[in-house]
Amino acid sequence: MEKAHNEILSALLTDIKPKIGEDAFKDWFGGADIQYNNGYVLVFPNKFVSEWVGNHYLGYINESAEKIGISIKIGIINQQIEVQKEKSNQKFSEDYTFENFVVGKSNEMAYEAAKRIASNTQIVFNPLFIYGNVGLGKTHLMNAIAHYRAKQFPEQKIAYLSAEKFMTSFIKAIQQKSVMGFKDEFRSVDMLLIDDFQFLGSKEATQEEFFHTFNILLEQKKQLIISADQPPSSLPGVEARLSSRLGWGLVVDIHPPTFELRVSILKAKAEKLGVEIEEEIIHYIAEISRNSIRELEGALIRVVKQSEWMNIPLTLTLAETVLQNFQNSKPKNAEEILKKMCKLMEMELETLQGSSRQRPIVRARQKAVYLLRSLTGISYTQIAKMIGNKDHTSIMYAETQAKKLKKEDPIFQSEIEKLEKELK
Ligand code: ADP
Ligand code: MG
Repeated sequence: MEKAHNEILSALLTDIKPKIGEDAFKDWFGGADIQYNNGYVLVFPNKFVSEWVGNHYLGYINESAEKIGISIKIGIINQQIEVQKEKSNQKFSEDYTFENFVVGKSNEMAYEAAKRIASNTQIVFNPLFIYGNVGLGKTHLMNAIAHYRAKQFPEQKIAYLSAEKFMTSFIKAIQQKSVMGFKDEFRSVDMLLIDDFQFLGSKEATQEEFFHTFNILLEQKKQLIISADQPPSSLPGVEARLSSRLGWGLVVDIHPPTFELRVSILKAKAEKLGVEIEEEIIHYIAEISRNSIRELEGALIRVVKQSEWMNIPLTLTLAETVLQNFQNSKPKNAEEILKKMCKLMEMELETLQGSSRQRPIVRARQKAVYLLRSLTGISYTQIAKMIGNKDHTSIMYAETQAKKLKKEDPIFQSEIEKLEKELK
């Protein structure tokens, strides 16, 4: 028995530790122990610690407990075990908050709408419908709304769940003949957030149930927030009367992030990880994925972890090595394109790679950079290497110049378009 307890304790703590960080872990879980009293209880040395942990880390504890297949309560060592008050409200992630959401052009509409709804208990628009491709921050924003609302208005009942969870709960309710309970649960909330709505495509019975819940909540002036990967009108398999209703309130989309936003987000994530990373490396990682912040985050974590595990400094070379799989075979292709481009422009590759500031050469470099970017999508750093080991910021500048000239100078524009055609 004793051993089993220890094993459970150590499994729990091992899982919690990386989530909250070394320091916080030492402070709050240093004196933790486990007891058994009609169920497992994670106990702490005194009331203060126990309450603090309950208020801040309960979500993580439950998550870890679920992983090892037990349920757990929180209490105080050697005291009659105090059972944690059952909070009627869900706990929302402390990671996906408004504070941690970096705002840029591509997501500011969605962010503003989310913020407004979170801080306003009077209905401004209903429902709020947020759509965008995977990995662009929809779940983050949804959670941020719920988190903020729950903090500011603790008396409100908020339900946040994925459409898939909505469906499985519904099916379970049917099987257990507890559909009334299910209906009550969702029809009595002040705010309902359904994530990844596209999942309900072609799930007729669940859509029907959702439609009723939706109408009742709307009538009662309760806030609904929906996310999906498509706008309401394009959701496949969603009934017309429902999809039209989903668009009644405010529909906002999240676009792929610009380079600048990707850089800002990576910097924010690096800071959260507690690592300092050179600008050049951040820029390199920012090019790994243009369409998914989740992928960017994954790339950053890989590089950071690799440097930690191997105990070596985080350099550009390390980042390139770790992330080379992400880059596919693009660079090879890019070399060919560059060579062909030089031929077409009647310019030696060596000249392009040199340091001459003569106008025709500068122009050729600008075209080369622009086309390499638009045709292959390789990173500034990689282009910098290909054209004479230049600084990656000068490559970024060359691209900006090319974009500007393309707008302002018809000759430049026609030359670049001609090249583009021949290269494709
Ligand atoms: P989606 O639900 O649209 O697929 P997520 O909300 O799960 O995307 O976001 C994927 C990851 O990217 C999450 O870790 C999230 O924190 C992060 N992320 C997305 N957008 C931002 C942003 N604007 N600022 C900071 N992190 C972001
Ligand atoms: Mg999501």
